[in-house]
Amino acid sequence: MRSDIRRCADWREVHERPVYTLGSHCPACGAEAVNSAPAPFDPEDRYGEYRRALKRRRRG
Ligand SMILES: [Zn+2]
Repeated sequence: MRSDIRRCADWREVHERPVYTLGSHCPACGAEAVNSAPAPFDPEDRYGEYRRALKRRRRG
């Protein structure tokens, strides 16, 4: 049987990696949690480093 695991809809913006929950909202940031369908993107997030570098630059 399929489990009803959801994933933070905004995890790419807010977290370093996907945040999973059984509730309807992310326990970490409070954003909406959506059903974790098969990811259309690389789960290893090839662009994560690049994105985080940008974030760091913006902040610094
Ligand atoms: Zn979140």
